[in-house]
Amino acid sequence: MQRPMTAIGFALLVMTGCATTTVASEPAQTAEAVTPDRKIIVKTQAEFKDMLKHAQPGDQIVLANGTWTDFDMVVEAYGTADAPIWITSETPGGVVLSGQSSLRIGGEHLIISGLVFRDGYTPRNEVISFRRDSDTLARNSRVTETVIENYSNPDRTQRDIWVVMYGQNNRFDHNHMVGKLNSGPTMAVRLNTEDSQNNNHRIDHNYFGPRPVFGSNGGETLRIGTSHYSLTDSNTVVESNFFDRCSGEVEIISNKSGGNTYRGNTFYESRGTLTLRHGNGTLVEGNLFDGNGALYTGGVRIINAQQTIRENYFKDLTGKRFSGGLVIMNGVPDSPINRYHQVDGVVVEDNQFENIAAIELAEGSDTERSAVPVNSAVRNNLFVNESGSNPFNIYDDLSGIRFAGNMVTQPVPEAIQPGFNVDSSASITRNHTEFGIRREETGVSWYPKPTGGSPFEGGKVISVSPGENTISAALMSAEPGDRLQLAPGDYNESTIVNLQIPVTIEAASDVAPRITFERKNLFQLSSNGGLRLRGLNVSGQNAPDNVGNSFISTTARGGGGNHIVELLDSQFENFNVNRSFSVVAAAKGTFYDKIKVKRSSFSNVNGSVFKLDVETDDFGIYNVEFLKVEGSQFSDITGPVAAVYRGGRDESTFGPHVTFKASQFSNVGRDDTPLMVLHGVQHVIIESNSVSNANPVKFVITTGKPKPVVTGNTVTGSGRTVILETTDLRK
Ligand code: CA
Repeated sequence: MQRPMTAIGFALLVMTGCATTTVASEPAQTAEAVTPDRKIIVKTQAEFKDMLKHAQPGDQIVLANGTWTDFDMVVEAYGTADAPIWITSETPGGVVLSGQSSLRIGGEHLIISGLVFRDGYTPRNEVISFRRDSDTLARNSRVTETVIENYSNPDRTQRDIWVVMYGQNNRFDHNHMVGKLNSGPTMAVRLNTEDSQNNNHRIDHNYFGPRPVFGSNGGETLRIGTSHYSLTDSNTVVESNFFDRCSGEVEIISNKSGGNTYRGNTFYESRGTLTLRHGNGTLVEGNLFDGNGALYTGGVRIINAQQTIRENYFKDLTGKRFSGGLVIMNGVPDSPINRYHQVDGVVVEDNQFENIAAIELAEGSDTERSAVPVNSAVRNNLFVNESGSNPFNIYDDLSGIRFAGNMVTQPVPEAIQPGFNVDSSASITRNHTEFGIRREETGVSWYPKPTGGSPFEGGKVISVSPGENTISAALMSAEPGDRLQLAPGDYNESTIVNLQIPVTIEAASDVAPRITFERKNLFQLSSNGGLRLRGLNVSGQNAPDNVGNSFISTTARGGGGNHIVELLDSQFENFNVNRSFSVVAAAKGTFYDKIKVKRSSFSNVNGSVFKLDVETDDFGIYNVEFLKVEGSQFSDITGPVAAVYRGGRDESTFGPHVTFKASQFSNVGRDDTPLMVLHGVQHVIIESNSVSNANPVKFVITTGKPKPVVTGNTVTGSGRTVILETTDLRK
C-alpha cells in the first residue's frame, strides 16, 4: 500500500525526457496522479529514504553528485519487468559513498548503477548485499557500473565480503573491484535458504582488479556456495569477467555448489586456480588462463563429479601442486561434506595448454585422500611446451581416467602414453585472443584500472640535512614514491613516525648518514606504508631501556596494508639496549608482502633481526610472504636471526617464503637459541652461506609439502656441521 508522496519528495521531481525542466515549482499532486517514468533527484540521505518509500515502477531515483558519507543505503522497492525501479548517480562515478557506507537491496526489478565506494569500509558484513535482511531478498535485480576501491576494513583480521548475492535471477555486471586487503572473499554467492538456491544469477563483464596476498585462508576473489549447501545447485553463470592479479590465496575462485558455468573469463597473472572445491556438474569453457610467467599462476583444480573443462586456453602458468595448470585431485573415501569428494565422471577436452609448468594428476594422494579419479576422460587436448620439459606429474593410480587423442610436444610418463601422440613440432591451433575477454571490455570506462610498477618509483627527491627530527619533518610533506636524500652527518629522531605511504630514504652521497632514534620504534608502518633504505648507518644506541624495541615495526591502527621493506647497502649496529631488540618486527594482525635485504650488515643485536612470529594462534595467519636476504653479514646476534611463524594445518597459502643466500653469520644464538626459527614456512632456501659459532636453523613443518633447499653452505666453530634441523608435525 503506497502512501501519497511527501511534499519534499515531490518538490524534487524531474520528468524523464525533459531532464532540464524541473517541476519543483509546480503545484503538489497526489502520488497516484504521477505518471511512471519519473526522474527524481535526491540530495540528502533523508530525501533518498523518503523518496524510496513511495517509489513506483518506472521511477528513476538519481543521487546528486558529491560525497555521501556514512550512508546506510537501503533499497527495498518493487518494480516490474517492464518498468524497473532505477537508482543511479547524477553522472557515472559522480557519487562517492565513503566512511561507513553500505548498500542493501531487497525487492524486485531494481537497477542500481554509477556508485563509487571508497575512502572507508563497511560497518556490516557486506558493502553491497542483495538482500535487505534475511526475510527480504532481491530478485530480478541488477547492480551495474559500480566501483568498490580499497574499501577494506583497516583491521585485516576483520572479515567481510564486498558483494554478496542472495535471492534469484539477479545480475552483477560491468563493476570494478580493486584492492581488498582484509579477510573474506571479495565476492560471494550465498545459497543459505531455498530462496537463494537454483538462483540463475549472472556475474558478467566485471573487472576484478588486484587482490594482494592475504597471508591466510579467506583471500578468495569469488566464492559460490559453501560446503554446507554444496550438493545444491546454484546455476550461476560467471561470464566474460577479467581477473587481474587476483592473488589473495590458493583459490582465485572457490566453487562450492553445483551447476555453475564459468565461460569466457580471463585470469591474468592471478596466483592459484579456479577451484571446483565442492558441488557437481559445473562447466568451465572458453576461458583464458594467462599467467604471463608470474609466480604461482595456475588454471583449474578439479574435485567432485560431472565437471566439464573444455575449450579453454592455458598459457604461461608457472604454478605447481595445488596451483598447477590442470590439477585433478584424489578424494576422500565416503568424504565428509567439507573434505574432498572423489573425482567421478569428469571430462577435460579440447583444451590448449601452452608452456604450463605442471599438470598434476591424482594430486593430494595421501592416507586420507586415497580415492583415485574414476569414470573420467582427458581427450583431444593439446600440450605445447617450448622448454621441452614434461609437465605431467602422477601421484596415484590413473586407471579411472581414459586418456585419448591428446597431442603433446614431448614424451609423457609411461602410465598415460597410450592417450598421447608425441609430435615435437605441434603448435597452438587457436590464437589466445579467441578466448576470455580483454581488460578494457570489463568494468567501467570512467574509472582507471590500476597499472603495475614499484611503489618506490615515480616520486620527487627531497633533500634532508642532519640534525634533530629532520627525517620526520621531511616525511610530513612526502608523497607516495618520494625519495628522501640524506646529506652526510648525524640524524636523531625523538618521535615515532607512523608511515602510511611508500618512501625511499637514502644516502645522498657515498658517505653513510648516521641515524639514531629515541623511542621504541623509529618507523611504524600502517596502511600503504613501505620503506626502501639505501646506504644508511643505523644505531640502536639511543633507544629506550625497554624490552621489545624495533627500528621498523607495524601497527594495525590506521589500516593494515601489505608492506614492503627493502634494506640495501646499510649497516645496523648496537641494537643491544635491553633485550628482544629487533631491526624489523611485525605487530599482530599486520603483514609484510616482502622484506628484501641486500649487502647489509647487522651486529650487536640483543634479539631477532627479523621478528615475524606473533601470529601464534595457529589460525593459518602469518606476518610475511617473502623474507629474502642476500650478501649480508650477521654477527653477535642473540638470535634467532629470523623468527617466522605460520601455524595451522590448512593448505590455503603459498607462503611464507624465506631465503638466505651468500651471507655470513658469526656468533649467533645464545645457549640453545637456533640460528633461525622457521615454523610452518612453505619455502626455504639456505644457499652458499658461511656460518661460524651458531646452532642449526630450526625448521618445523606444519602443513603442505615444503622441500627446503639447503646447499653450498659452510659451517664451522660449533662442532656441528648441519645447518638445518627439521621437525615434522604433520600427522
Ligand atoms: Ca580458500
